[in-house]
Amino acid sequence: MNKSSKIYVAGHRGMVGSAICRKLEQDGYTHIITKTSAELDLRDQQAVLSFFESQKPDYVFLAAAKVGGIHANNTYRADFLYDNLMIQANIIHAAYVHRATKLQFLGSSCIYPKMAPQPLKEEYLLTGTLEQTNEPYAIAKIAGIKLCEAYRDQYGCDFISVMPTNLYGYNDNYDLNNSHVLPALIRKFHEAKDNAAQSVTVWGTGSPRREFLFADDLAEACVFLMENYSGRELVNIGTGEDVTIKELALLVKEVVGFKGELVFDTTKPDGTPRKLMDVSKLHQLGYKHKTELREGIALSYADFKEKYVTSL
Ligand code: GDP
Repeated sequence: MNKSSKIYVAGHRGMVGSAICRKLEQDGYTHIITKTSAELDLRDQQAVLSFFESQKPDYVFLAAAKVGGIHANNTYRADFLYDNLMIQANIIHAAYVHRATKLQFLGSSCIYPKMAPQPLKEEYLLTGTLEQTNEPYAIAKIAGIKLCEAYRDQYGCDFISVMPTNLYGYNDNYDLNNSHVLPALIRKFHEAKDNAAQSVTVWGTGSPRREFLFADDLAEACVFLMENYSGRELVNIGTGEDVTIKELALLVKEVVGFKGELVFDTTKPDGTPRKLMDVSKLHQLGYKHKTELREGIALSYADFKEKYVTSL
């Protein structure tokens, strides 16, 4: 990429896409193209092809997706499968038709089998059965990886796939039903503190383990890999460190400053027992995350208070 390359960031209003745009701007890239979903429905093949025909982007970050936490994935199963299949197929095909120089597809750690050995190595893809709660989303993401591979094999396209772990950061989704665990806990502890509540309810048993990466670190890794990696194999992006949901809840509680108790609602699903990425490939390529969990939670909580508290 050179500083004046035309770079299309799909999903620029989301947590990941907005972080990628910020990083590109910081690094001096001057020609970033974005479209809101009202301007361009990425599920519409004709609209996507016309957009690529008129804009002819050189580089594409495919960070547009329908995403959510365990409840949303499990509830809107058709939407998670259909919307994601359509969005990625349309963009990947249009990037091929209109000769984009390179495309980066963002997947997810949920593509790995539920019972895969930990930490999750890239080669564990398609070696076992998926976790039921997010199988539709995972199947869509696996199809996206395979599309990138197939366009590379058949047409020589430089399409790469990266697999972020669980993410959090600026512009996160704080909807209590549909968000991921970390933003949900930030909001729950904040509101409990405000209302002087006795306790906060945490879903599941508290024993599943999860890894969390600050979205700005992910964005840095994505730009780094766009600049430096052109392989056929996926690359995991994470910290290589995980915590239990209970440990996470205690950490968020401390950062927010809530003094009450934790209550575990075991009628809610735990999901996958553990999802820890093996990040040795990313480290070998030359990127390591910068923001530690406590610091990232504090930054996210400050952003939450600034942007969301008044509108809730
Ligand atoms: P997952 O990584 O795909 O399972 O997605 P989530 O981030 O939604 O959930 C991770 C874990 O946190 C699961 O074991 C959830 O049951 C647990 N969890 C605890 N409290 C909450 C909450 O308030 N919201 C969500 N989304 N998950 C929670």
